[in-house]
Amino acid sequence: MKTIFEKSIRGRRAAKLPKSDVSCSEEIPEKFKRKEGVNLPEVAEIDVVRHYIHLSKKNFCVDANFYPLGSCTMKYNPKLGEEIARYEGFANLHPLLPQLHHGGMLTQGALEVIYNSERLFCKVTGMDEFSLQPLAGAHGELTGMLIVAAYHREKGNKKTKVLIPDSAHGTNPASAAIAGYKVVSIPSDKNGIMDIVEFKKSLDDEVAACMLTSPNTLGIFNPYVKEISELIHRIDGLMYYDGANLNALLGKCLPGDLGFDIVHLNLHKTFSTPHGGGGPGGGATGVCEKLRKFLPVSRVIKREDATYALDYEYSNSIGYIAPFYGNFLVILKAYAYILNLGGEGLKRVSENAVLNANYLLNKLKKCYEIPHPESCLHEFVISAKKQKQKGVSALDIAKRLIDFGFHPPTIYFPLIVEEAMMIEPTETESKETLDEFALAMIEIAKEVEENPDIIKESPQGLEISRLDEVKAAKELKLNG
Ligand SMILES: *Cc1c(COP(=O)(O)O)cnc(C)c1O
Repeated sequence: MKTIFEKSIRGRRAAKLPKSDVSCSEEIPEKFKRKEGVNLPEVAEIDVVRHYIHLSKKNFCVDANFYPLGSCTMKYNPKLGEEIARYEGFANLHPLLPQLHHGGMLTQGALEVIYNSERLFCKVTGMDEFSLQPLAGAHGELTGMLIVAAYHREKGNKKTKVLIPDSAHGTNPASAAIAGYKVVSIPSDKNGIMDIVEFKKSLDDEVAACMLTSPNTLGIFNPYVKEISELIHRIDGLMYYDGANLNALLGKCLPGDLGFDIVHLNLHKTFSTPHGGGGPGGGATGVCEKLRKFLPVSRVIKREDATYALDYEYSNSIGYIAPFYGNFLVILKAYAYILNLGGEGLKRVSENAVLNANYLLNKLKKCYEIPHPESCLHEFVISAKKQKQKGVSALDIAKRLIDFGFHPPTIYFPLIVEEAMMIEPTETESKETLDEFALAMIEIAKEVEENPDIIKESPQGLEISRLDEVKAAKELKLNG
């Protein structure tokens, strides 16, 4: 197909702009003025529409197909959230509008949304206060680890290390390191959880915090979590909960009750705000009472006269973490999602997420190796080790799934499972969709035995088949 540049015909127009009534050309110094005309495609409106529609169709999205990308929680995002985020009073709000008095009536609603959302996130996590400013999960982790550092600095604690299991998301060690800590990686045991013996061996007075994901990236809940919290607190360390995927625990169990002091949530995973392509996201971060004063500024407060305002007066705060107040429309969509589902609805989210994952795990058991035989929570990891022996890798299987109309699962993560394929069906998929996916996976396992070449040549019929990912990373070319 021709590109929009190849379709360009001199003088063809999609729109006519009105003559500018602002004269500014004299004010632009000569040296900044363009010497030649700019090379833009000259096309009609229909060409523009077709260009963008074609582009949108090349994009694989959860609104079109099943997207079981483990740890990413690609659940369906209800359109209600989009509708509310489009309300003029929210979408067109300028962050510098006054909070009170003249014009304050324009911002009071938005401040109330933030204030109420923070209270709701406290309720679902058991934390005492939240900041919704962080713009992504990793950003919430960094906020949390800066709070860890601020806490120990204030107490005069000499702490140098953060303990993190080897199944953790790569952002965990990165965040701890950026906050100035040495990362100690704790191996997993044969059941896929952090090895409690190894953990105890690494525990000493220099440990500032332990970062845990629970259930972890294998979809397994750590039964020692309360004991771990107690041991960490005994040395005045802090417990950090990576709650990027709260899908398994929503409404069932509070991280605060498990002994966690800091929690981050990915609004763009669990709370159904769309993600992909780098954002925008939300990494809401909550803390227990003793860490409240370290939260970033600004904070939304409710005054005695029931008006809301942004407050900056916190001398122990770690300071600014995001411009203005985070991704407001993302917060708004998450708020709408929680209110729409209610407490009972949130419980059903986790029940169905866990049910769907276990259903699929059981269907795939026959054909793929399951490295950790226990039942899972919201996601699970299978291994294509058996298939690899026949020359077909997890990557090949992932590519072949595209031919069947499915987005590949996360592969080669967590790093502790050979030929890992990490599958998270989420609660929004029907039994029929899960059956179709299982059938495709079983069919591919059969092809490995009978016709592996077809897998090696997949995906077929797409504009681009397989990328040379190493070359793409080394010789990054973003145009043309
Ligand atoms: C996605 C994820 C993160 C990081 O979140 P981002 O928004 O991508 O920065 C951290 N931990 C876990 C377990 C995750 O799944």
